[in-house]
Amino acid sequence: MNDKSLVIKQILLDSNLNRLDTKLLLCHVLGFSRTQLITRDDYKLTRAQFESYNLLYAKCLAGMPMAYILGYKEFYSRIFKVNTNTLIPRPETELLVDTVLALAKPMAKVLDLGTGSGCIAISCKLEQQALSVTATDKYPEALAIAISNAADLGADIKFINCDWLDGITDIYDIIVSNPPYIANNDKHLPALSFEPQHALTDFFDGMSAIRKIIEDSKAHLNGYLLIEHGYDQGSFTTELMLKYGFRNIRTIRDYASLDRITIGYSSNVDSHFAN
Ligand code: GLN
Repeated sequence: MNDKSLVIKQILLDSNLNRLDTKLLLCHVLGFSRTQLITRDDYKLTRAQFESYNLLYAKCLAGMPMAYILGYKEFYSRIFKVNTNTLIPRPETELLVDTVLALAKPMAKVLDLGTGSGCIAISCKLEQQALSVTATDKYPEALAIAISNAADLGADIKFINCDWLDGITDIYDIIVSNPPYIANNDKHLPALSFEPQHALTDFFDGMSAIRKIIEDSKAHLNGYLLIEHGYDQGSFTTELMLKYGFRNIRTIRDYASLDRITIGYSSNVDSHFAN
């Protein structure tokens, strides 16, 4: 290898990745800003830097998502650590946070089920500090990342290691979840192979987690349930909410105009008085 191939502008030319990804990798390895990468494009990498770059370059070429390579993803204008134990936060999930914030009274008790990186719970808490936020996850490895993100970002949240609502005893004003909702035969699934499959799919029809959350939330809710789901699951989710006695049900579309969130109201307190 000649010396020229260690220079930033030559690395950019030699790369088989798109230019933005190559730049992101170089910035990460060198600790440069994007501007520095331009103004110092004649910088020659040390052998060690070039080796680190090549390692990440190979992962990127193999299809690993950039968030896993860099170890973080931006969500709701904050940086969340991620690893292959957590789903990568998606921009459409920011709408779920917006909707919780629009519905939650200032001191509301909020429960986030299957929190993953913690991005929903932490964003809600940091946007509205008076909220009392609890977040659960079945997987200790994911919960560890959520706890670490909450500590880094200064969000005071109660974390519980449990499967959906199985470890929950309290009543909440808002229950929110972005559960695994992709069906096992969905053609998008193979393209998401680097992410934890149990966070994406129920290995069945894509509705098992949604079904369980709707069924089990009733006993713990005095307010709204908000569920993120696939573009074609709005009517199934609505039917299930109707079946379990939820009221004021509506489905919200994301910025791509696809059905993305279904909301329903249920009052454990009302049903208590009704009985
Ligand atoms: N929205 C994600 C995707 O389609 C799936 C997230 C989920 O299953 N909760 O890639």
